[in-house]
Amino acid sequence: QKHAKPVDYNAVINEAYNLFKNEQSGKNADYIPFLDRANAAMYGIVIVTKEGQVYQVGETKFEFGIESVEKVFTLCMAMEIFGDSVILEKVGASQTGLPFNSVPAIELDDKKPSNPLVNAGAMATTSLLTSHFGHSDAWEKVDAYFAKFAGRQLTILDELYKSEAANNQHNQAIAMLLKSYGYMYDDPLYACDFYTKQCSYGVTTRDLGIMAGTLANGGVNPITKERLIKEEYVPKVLAIMGTTGLYETTGEWMFKVGLPSKSGVGGGIISVVPGRYAIAVFSPPLDKAGNSVRAQKAIQYISGKLNANIYSGK
Ligand code: GLN
Repeated sequence: QKHAKPVDYNAVINEAYNLFKNEQSGKNADYIPFLDRANAAMYGIVIVTKEGQVYQVGETKFEFGIESVEKVFTLCMAMEIFGDSVILEKVGASQTGLPFNSVPAIELDDKKPSNPLVNAGAMATTSLLTSHFGHSDAWEKVDAYFAKFAGRQLTILDELYKSEAANNQHNQAIAMLLKSYGYMYDDPLYACDFYTKQCSYGVTTRDLGIMAGTLANGGVNPITKERLIKEEYVPKVLAIMGTTGLYETTGEWMFKVGLPSKSGVGGGIISVVPGRYAIAVFSPPLDKAGNSVRAQKAIQYISGKLNANIYSGK
């Protein structure tokens, strides 16, 4: 009975914080020099309820790179503008079971980008937006939409952007490959660079909590109360998160935790408990698939304590 007694979110996140703060496994993303240099001890946990209550512990005010968590909000924006069938047709919604920057995934999936939460699909989705708005307006529009999710203006971590842009030849190759198959809707290198910039947004764990809280609240930002995505699209975004949000380990994640989630190589993970609250955790050391180790452990613990598994029916 989930509403039987008031939930002590503070107690649960503090337990999760203390249980895993000494966890030593995992390793910072080393293919982006800026991320490699991050302090591996940093750790923050936030819960944002659909009513707009914010619970936090640890380094929740530190700004880190949003990285792949941005893909969720780019998807929301594209879904709002173009509708869900365009996403299905022009990007896809199938899981790859492969790493986030897999080239074989494109070849295997009918030359398609697979889904908006892997690099190929995220760049294809971004290219839909940049061609729709035009190069002179696109950044301003995307920037304004992301600001609405966070409830504040976000800025690019310039050093991260430069560090990643100087090392993203692999993503450029994916963008070019998609272009050759007809799944890029703007200049591929422009879209790749735009995507890289989106990945370089500086966010706090609290920002991520509010952004994810908007999805937990059916598309309405729980703090500003502004609707950012149609209610009917929210389950579709969550479905893609639930099948691919942690890349090739998503199946295991859903088996253990049962929450639609999204990770980024900056160390952030968001999880959504639909209609109730969102959990955001940040800590830089990653597992082999690129998912924060402490964040996964903390969310698994919190989800267990709060009976959050979406398949439990509780
Ligand atoms: N910007 C990173 C990349 O494209 C994002 C990857 C991630 O967070 N999984 O490689």
